[in-house]
Amino acid sequence: MPSASSLVVVIGTGGTIAGVVTDTAARPGAHLGYEAGALTADALVAAVPALAALPLETHSLAQLDSSDMDHATWQALALAVTAHLARPEVAGVVVTHGTDTLEETATFLQLTVAATKPVVMTAAMRPATAPSADGPQNLLDAVRLATMPGVTGVLLAFGGSVYAGTEARKLHGYRIDAFGGGDAGPLALMQDGALRPLRAWPAPDGHAAEVLAQPLADWPVVDIVTSHAGVRGQTMLALVAAGARGIVVAGSGNGSVHRELELAAEQAQRQGVTVWRASRCVLGGVVGEVPGNAQGGGSAYALPHAGDATPAQARVRLLLSLLLQRQRQPGP
Ligand code: ASP
Repeated sequence: MPSASSLVVVIGTGGTIAGVVTDTAARPGAHLGYEAGALTADALVAAVPALAALPLETHSLAQLDSSDMDHATWQALALAVTAHLARPEVAGVVVTHGTDTLEETATFLQLTVAATKPVVMTAAMRPATAPSADGPQNLLDAVRLATMPGVTGVLLAFGGSVYAGTEARKLHGYRIDAFGGGDAGPLALMQDGALRPLRAWPAPDGHAAEVLAQPLADWPVVDIVTSHAGVRGQTMLALVAAGARGIVVAGSGNGSVHRELELAAEQAQRQGVTVWRASRCVLGGVVGEVPGNAQGGGSAYALPHAGDATPAQARVRLLLSLLLQRQRQPGP
């Protein structure tokens, strides 16, 4: 029986970290063309000799390519993480995940789990069968971080850096240093097993925990529309007609919205749909008052914006905000 608060629970959800190239004989050293999520959490842990001596418990919650992530898995994951954190013998939880939608799941967990103990997500850009796979070191860093006293919140341990859950974003589709922390940068570095904080640690959140009790069928549809040259307002209106209750516009630059989408957004708002702006830029977000950035002019600037959040993270925030509104003011 592990001593008080020394156990780390590793929850696997799939991704490249658990990915396998099945025809390595034909394609030795391949980084692509793998089956994501093929390995269980148990197998991932077994591949890291340095973890053998640590008290760990493993669970495979899903074996998804995270590009197929869904709300049911988010709900099950947040409930599982919450339940494990409540166990006195648990020091922290590690979640292995695909990189593609990690920034969305991390945001969801940060806002729905009151993580007074560490919840450390990790991932990899190379499959487990690659000759120099990055998953084992990332997993080792994540487990070590999950045992450190005083560490709280939902975090990402990746490539020797530690990011806050709501700040982590995927910046590159292939390189192993694929993540960044937006304008805020990393929270800390993991150096030879030691944590080197770089700035003040954010308080854990979990303010939206109550939404986890809502049946999935009641979760509102929230979609993303990108503003681009030649965009059609009908695209947004078609989403409204298909049941969207919230829409994030991935605006150009500092969250600018094409006039065709502005007109559609006004119409959507008149039908009770909440429309937010984010920026489609790879770095940065939307800077200015929320709502009403006078600099840009035009009615779209009255649309609230999601600050530093990427469009995908903004979608998670809008989803949770609509769920909370519904829960606190149930309709007729
Ligand atoms: N498609 C993979 C996933 O997100 C990519 C990765 O994990 O790096 O599951």
